[in-house]
Amino acid sequence: MFDFLKQLKRNRPMRIVVNGNPALREISTPILKIDDEVRSLAENLLRSLQESEVPGVGLAAPQIGVSRRMIAVKTTDDKGHCRPDALPGELILAPLMPVVLINPEIVAHSEETVCEEEGCLSLPGISGKVTRWATVTLRTQLLSGQEFTAECGGLLSRCLQHEIDHLDGKLFYDRISPEEQKLADPIMRKLARREAGLRAAKSS
Ligand SMILES: [Zn+2]
Repeated sequence: MFDFLKQLKRNRPMRIVVNGNPALREISTPILKIDDEVRSLAENLLRSLQESEVPGVGLAAPQIGVSRRMIAVKTTDDKGHCRPDALPGELILAPLMPVVLINPEIVAHSEETVCEEEGCLSLPGISGKVTRWATVTLRTQLLSGQEFTAECGGLLSRCLQHEIDHLDGKLFYDRISPEEQKLADPIMRKLARREAGLRAAKSS
């Protein structure tokens, strides 16, 4: 957190960290109070998602090096449209996107699963098929303090599962087939070397 505050004071955008950064493998801590520090982190997370070179539909705080339970999501198109058979959670969140969710958790899920291609801003150059629950019931808090529990499907369901995995130190790489992992391994190693270099440069 210390590093984060220092960077905020300098008003510098946070770097999206890649494979090899320890924050990506930590269990993030819950947010107990929505104060100025949490609001600054939210602002920074949104900015990092929106300004990322590769468009992303979600970003979790550990991806900017902060192990707190916060994610940002934007699964609607630019006009704010969501899919025609949107579930209540999608209808609540769509008009707010890009939106920050505090302490998001999945409290129930469908039996049905869907297997689709995923990528991650912290694993550039890697993709693979991941099986996820088709619908999930999300319990979360908004930055306004409002809490709700609602069912979400479609891309939002997948995105929530991917981002909440980040809060538990899991990467989509862990969920792809061994064959896909084998293909990804040289890139994973390259990213880890890049990340180690950046971290060393920063601390020197
Ligand atoms: Zn990710």
